[in-house]
Amino acid sequence: MNESDIRKVTIIGGGPAGYTAALYTARANLTPLVIEGFAWGGQLMITSDVENYPGYPDGVLGPQMMQEFRAQAERFGAEFITDDVTRVDFSERPFRFWVDDEEHHSETVIIATGAVARQLGLESEQKLQGAGVSYCAVCDAAFFRDKEVVVVGGGDSAMEEAIFLTKFATKVTVVHRRDEFRASPIMVDRARANERIEFVLDSAVEEVLGTDEGRVTGAVIRNLRTEETTEIPADGFFVAIGHDPSTALFRGQIDMDVGGYIETRGKTTETNVPGVFAAGDVQDHVYRQAVTAAGTGCQAALDAERFLADLEGGVERPLVADEALATPQNW
Ligand SMILES: Cc1cc2nc3c(=O)[nH]c(=O)nc-3n(C[C@H](O)[C@H](O)[C@H](O)COP(=O)(O)OP(=O)(O)OC[C@H]3O[C@@H](n4cnc5c(N)ncnc54)[C@H](O)[C@@H]3O)c2cc1C
Repeated sequence: MNESDIRKVTIIGGGPAGYTAALYTARANLTPLVIEGFAWGGQLMITSDVENYPGYPDGVLGPQMMQEFRAQAERFGAEFITDDVTRVDFSERPFRFWVDDEEHHSETVIIATGAVARQLGLESEQKLQGAGVSYCAVCDAAFFRDKEVVVVGGGDSAMEEAIFLTKFATKVTVVHRRDEFRASPIMVDRARANERIEFVLDSAVEEVLGTDEGRVTGAVIRNLRTEETTEIPADGFFVAIGHDPSTALFRGQIDMDVGGYIETRGKTTETNVPGVFAAGDVQDHVYRQAVTAAGTGCQAALDAERFLADLEGGVERPLVADEALATPQNW
């Protein structure tokens, strides 16, 4: 392998976190390679209006915003491969990873592969995504002021989303497959005490109803005990059945929590492998917003820059860093 074949920074993932890391590392003259994934742009590509990203007073379409993030990083020299990384080897530096048979090498890697909101798998759900079907109440609740919505799910996040939606919607119907909840009792009690929330239990969604112009009008629900089907009128349809971090690729290479999210140290984006950093939803199951993903993308870029500066300065790091050494203040 030639020295010139070794990248200083490679970013895996092309969502808000990855493109922000690309912008910062490109402006630091590190000419990052962004392997942005076949589904470049990330989760915001399946939504319409984004109204909570600072700097867009009139809102912006999700795909347009991601195109602009990408263009801004490109302007400063970021290079892109629009494909998925298929294998990684983080056992020694420079790190190795592959896009099919093509092998790449890099001194540092920023993982920004995000997460995927679980879907019900209905054709009608897919057709109406961004047109009334949503996976994020914090993002989209305000579009349903004085409207009626359905929330699907029985965990804490479904209860949280339902409660949040009552700030805007006049009625929130929670549809859940069982008559017991995975959610903690306190969250269920809070939801039950909210007079705008109704529960339809032991029931599954058969179809999301919508107009030809692409607007949700309701849902067909089947009672799993009686097999009876009913229609619930609604303007919005929120799926709250969890998220899956896109980390299968890194299993066995990097520390993850029980949910499969990459573990980062303290206030940094460092993983347990020095030189590998993680940003965005792939390491955050709490906030899950574009702005927080972009924020940690910036942090990862700065962490990678400092790491490289250390290498150049001859500060050698053990592959698994000592906890005390790992804090940026000590670099
Ligand atoms: C429908 C919907 C609406 C939303 N609306 C809003 C909103 O209005 N405001 C807001 O702040 N947030 C919103 N969110 C949340 C927001 O989209 C996420 O928090 C944010 O996109 C996370 O950014 P990320 O860069 O961490 O990951 P993602 O956006 O998930 O991007 C991950 C990237 O990694 C790539 N990738 C995955 N695996 C590989 C691989 N093996 N190789 C290479 N690349 C790979 C993917 O292709 C993708 O490009 C919404 C989410 C959804 C689902």
